[in-house]
Amino acid sequence: MYANVVVEYPVKTLDKEFTYYVPEELKSQVKVGMKVAVEFGKKDIQGFILGITDIYDGEYELKPIKSILEPDLVLSNELIELGKYIRNETLCTLISAYQSMLPSALKINKNNRNYNFYKTYIELDKTEKEIKEYVSKCRYPRQVEILNLLLQNKRMEKRVLSCSGLDTLIKKELVKEIKEQEYRINVIDKNINKVKLTEEQDNAYKTIKTSFNKNETFLLYGITGSGKTEIYLNSIEDVVNSGKQAIMLAPEISLTMQIVKRFYERFGSKVAVLHSALSDGERHDEYLKISRGEVSVVVGTRSAIFAPFNNLGIIIIDEEHSDTYKQDNMPRYNAKDVAKFRCKYYNIPLVLASATPLLDSMARAQKGVYTLVTLKQRVGNSVLPQIHLVDMEAEYKKKNFIFSDLLKEKINERLEKKEQVILFLNRRGFSTFVSCSNCGYTYKCPNCDISLTYHKSTNNLVCHYCGYNIKCDELCPNCKEKSLNYLGLGTEKLEQEIKNSFPLANVVRMDQDTTSKKGSHDKIIEDFKNEKYNLLLGTSMISKGLDFPKVTLVGVVNADTTLNIPDYRSNENTFDLLEQVSGRAGRANLLGEVVIQTFNVDNNVLKYVKESSYDNFYNTEMMFRRKLKYPPYYYLVSIRVLDKEYERALSEAKKCVSYLKENVCNETIVLGPTTAAILKFNNVYRFQIIVKYRFDEKLKETLHNLDQMYSLNDKTSIEIDFNPTRI
Ligand code: ADP
Ligand code: ZN
Repeated sequence: MYANVVVEYPVKTLDKEFTYYVPEELKSQVKVGMKVAVEFGKKDIQGFILGITDIYDGEYELKPIKSILEPDLVLSNELIELGKYIRNETLCTLISAYQSMLPSALKINKNNRNYNFYKTYIELDKTEKEIKEYVSKCRYPRQVEILNLLLQNKRMEKRVLSCSGLDTLIKKELVKEIKEQEYRINVIDKNINKVKLTEEQDNAYKTIKTSFNKNETFLLYGITGSGKTEIYLNSIEDVVNSGKQAIMLAPEISLTMQIVKRFYERFGSKVAVLHSALSDGERHDEYLKISRGEVSVVVGTRSAIFAPFNNLGIIIIDEEHSDTYKQDNMPRYNAKDVAKFRCKYYNIPLVLASATPLLDSMARAQKGVYTLVTLKQRVGNSVLPQIHLVDMEAEYKKKNFIFSDLLKEKINERLEKKEQVILFLNRRGFSTFVSCSNCGYTYKCPNCDISLTYHKSTNNLVCHYCGYNIKCDELCPNCKEKSLNYLGLGTEKLEQEIKNSFPLANVVRMDQDTTSKKGSHDKIIEDFKNEKYNLLLGTSMISKGLDFPKVTLVGVVNADTTLNIPDYRSNENTFDLLEQVSGRAGRANLLGEVVIQTFNVDNNVLKYVKESSYDNFYNTEMMFRRKLKYPPYYYLVSIRVLDKEYERALSEAKKCVSYLKENVCNETIVLGPTTAAILKFNNVYRFQIIVKYRFDEKLKETLHNLDQMYSLNDKTSIEIDFNPTRI
């Protein structure tokens, strides 16, 4: 018996299956998909069995499988196939595809710490009569006490009884120990009354329901506050009642938490969660619940798409336009593509939902590739908020550098009425660059060549790309004058400005810096919901999905931060972001208003945001995309050429361009090389090549060959990214 094993080295040159023989004692246990230890070179390493055969006709002397590592963990055939699909689609190594399917505690190459968590209980091991007899004669009060407690309670946790008396009782076999695995997350089942769906919701739900046994992709296009979550809950409930399983993805933790609460209310202990805010141990437990078939619903972020269910009934992806579904390091997979693979495999529906669908998704819906389901109204009496655009150029003349008169007035008005306000600024830190007014010196990251952001709370200058940080000095490091200026507004400074300008404000800030501690997202959201604060200030983290009935004003402090990013998607990203932020206002009975501050009042995108017109935005933007040959009319591939030396990076990038031009078909466009958006990252120079194509059967092979050419090059490396979220 032989096993084909893919080993843990994530390098392209070892990306193949190696054959091992299965020793006698393991023959009855080995299964395809198991994690095993094998010898490779002179080292013991780990791998997955991808196939078992009885024939080996190679000429090498084979080594044995040494042991089975995680008998509880077996990748199903479906997931094994999925890994191969991901390798083919993203040109990653097979092992990296399998690695990304597992929670970190179960990953290969992880310290062999055992994450299983047990509790020990004590129970009586003799009949009641025998125990009572013993008690009546026993001279040790502690033993008597323990036995009496157990006569009453039947079972108790060992740690509350631990003492030498207990040890004696165990030795005498009067009581016994029972070890049981405990999960770190335990959910109590509740019985919450279901709301009655509105007619619009009900129609949407029924449309999806007709395809429970079909592989159909729905685009659920429902404005903010239209009650999409109820549709998810009802659809999933039907699926679960039919004995099948469901995966529900949300784009980020803060949002996942809110959805998880609603899922716990409806499905209780049938729900497992998988997201990055869990500890390794929690994630390990949740994963076990899924693979042991103890839960039917998984709610989580991107990697939850790999939940090891074997009888899936539906996959739902909320906020489908979100970039977070694409992983931006190897394997560069998109959870939506993985979802499509799995839905096809199980012949089940996929629901992509958003208030601002990706142009790509809407275009597919228009062509009939996806089935469009629309929700045009907010639930109940709530209507979309009124949106004001404020010209900051005029405000600057009045010396209003941060808050326009209008925004100031509206904030005060809301705070006085005891309503709540959300302010949005897409830049964290205190000031986004520090420069010297005497000599012009600007602090820059020595590794990445971009300006450092000042964080006042720690008095640090930090690179937001690589994490490089230094203490900030009072004097300019160049001319030694005390003339440093802190320019560019970040959330930390904004928080301070709010405290200075609005005495009624009780502000809480939510960004990467205030949410690094476990559970802090959740706490900020809960506290704001319970009105401990009346003003929430944050980055894009607060833009999506949050539902606070008391919020009646949303302020966008600077709408230009995303508009001015040089990327073909910056219009789309800006529209999505502003539309989503606006959607946080006036969600219940109170009327909402939005104030957007900008230096580009005449910009079309902002005009469409003001009109809340996705359709007009869609039509205009699609014309632009067609003219400039961008998605969804063309597909994109980005190829990055990386090298520590600038000259070599550039000349290799030029070689790549020539190679591509020689090998692509006529209609395919090869652009570049240009410097990447961040030229120098972690001391490595980066050049970028963009390929635009529509039909090019040979392209994948060409790129694969290019990738292989660099797999043995120890100076220059390349990164290939299909359908990149930004270029
Ligand atoms: P969306 O995700 O579409 O932005 P949500 O699903 O968060 O909207 O719903 C918005 C609000 O409306 C939530 O507070 C939700 O509890 C409430 N809601 C949804 N459907 C109904 C309904 N049929 N009846 C009453 N309230 C509802
Ligand atoms: Zn850096």
